[in-house]
Amino acid sequence: SDQHYDVVVVGSGGAGFSAAIEAKEAGKSVVLIEKMPAVGGNTLISGAEMNVPNNWVQKKLGIKGDSPEKMAEDTIKGGDKLGNPHMIQVMTEHALDAATWLKDDIKVEFLDDQLFQFGGHSYKRALIPKGHTGQEVITKFKAKADKLDIPIKLNTTAKELVKEDDKVTAVKAENKDGDTITYHAKDGVILTTGGFGSNVDMRKKYNAKMDESYMSTVTEGSTGDGIVMAEAIGADLTNMENIQTYPICNPKTGVISLLADTRFDGAILVNQEGNRFVEELERRDVISNAILKQTGGYTYQIWNDKINDISGTMSVHEAEYNELKKQKLITKADTLEEAAAFFDIDVNNLKETVKKVNDYAKTGKDKDFNHRGKLVSLEEGPYYIEKAAPSVHHTMGGLVINDKTEVLDKEGKPIPGLYAAGELTGVIHGSNRLGGNAITDIIVFGRIAGQEVGKK
Ligand code: ADP
Repeated sequence: SDQHYDVVVVGSGGAGFSAAIEAKEAGKSVVLIEKMPAVGGNTLISGAEMNVPNNWVQKKLGIKGDSPEKMAEDTIKGGDKLGNPHMIQVMTEHALDAATWLKDDIKVEFLDDQLFQFGGHSYKRALIPKGHTGQEVITKFKAKADKLDIPIKLNTTAKELVKEDDKVTAVKAENKDGDTITYHAKDGVILTTGGFGSNVDMRKKYNAKMDESYMSTVTEGSTGDGIVMAEAIGADLTNMENIQTYPICNPKTGVISLLADTRFDGAILVNQEGNRFVEELERRDVISNAILKQTGGYTYQIWNDKINDISGTMSVHEAEYNELKKQKLITKADTLEEAAAFFDIDVNNLKETVKKVNDYAKTGKDKDFNHRGKLVSLEEGPYYIEKAAPSVHHTMGGLVINDKTEVLDKEGKPIPGLYAAGELTGVIHGSNRLGGNAITDIIVFGRIAGQEVGKK
């Protein structure tokens, strides 16, 4: 069957909702199609922290000196200069406006007195949504889309882009019953299908190292469909070999550990021998690679209540804590001896390591790994110690887009009628995405996509 709209948006993560809402508010008829039985994609299960230079919480906390230029510098450096500087600048310059839109128009609640400083960032600049997850963002997006009467077609998988006279004019999709529906798009198709972290064959095609030995943190919908569909009609791809592992995940299931966000407030990482081996606020790739070189290819993260109390991380992720406890991947212990015994860690080394950290916390100078945030004294128990390993998290590569989110062909020319935003694009993060930069990327460029098609 055939359905007719001005704009067809494929994929209902943060990028898709941003695009659909902007296009609708520009007066277009819009449909959002989603292959899973529920909306949200990886945005839903992520921590959804969003880097925003000069944000209102920085002002409140008295953090001065941050700017879009500084965030751009961090982003370029964090991706080994493989990101496109112009596109990065567009992202950082639009970040505050995008966050303000989320807060005021979409009604996303952010904590008003806390920020995260993720690895590779020179400032505390990541806004934290209520509950520290994407649940808050997606719930509010869904409510807004409902209010605007944007139809959302669940269990509907886009299969193919239809091109007529060089212009993309429709998407062929399949519903749960196997029926094909052609969604015609008078003004444009916006692809927001996310990355390909859960498509092992596609991972291996572009990077042989990222094989089935890695589990992944992402949802099963992240199979690179948008990238494959666009490539089939001539789109250019970039950075495809750059696949990021997240360092601190459940070693049995691959699921990301948000509980372990205590790392941003001073938790330390040790190996089976009880020694630190990397700066805890290093880039994700650096920490992941360092972990894989340790005995068994895993790490232990250690913190106490003093560290937990800084952001209250454990109370917002209580369900994860209980699950990890059941799986014997975390323990709470009154003493370091007890903690070490639970995981059979060398207790003397561990005590020596913690003694040094306590000294560094006092002097403010980490003589071993030059921790760029603040180490916190671990003198006082009880201790929490969690076992973790890296898992595939984000695919940096994807479609080449310009600053209007038009998808470019191999000659650098826009493919008429085709737009893309979010993880399926490959121009921002280079070799390595910094924490908190995905939400900024997907919201900024998702909005631009909706606005651009809205001008047609
Ligand atoms: P982003 O962060 O870029 O917004 P997400 O992973 O949050 O990406 O969202 C992407 C969404 O796209 C997911 O909900 C996923 O299930 C959906 N999706 C992926 N492939 C298809 C497809 N072929 N048809 C429809 N939806 C898709």
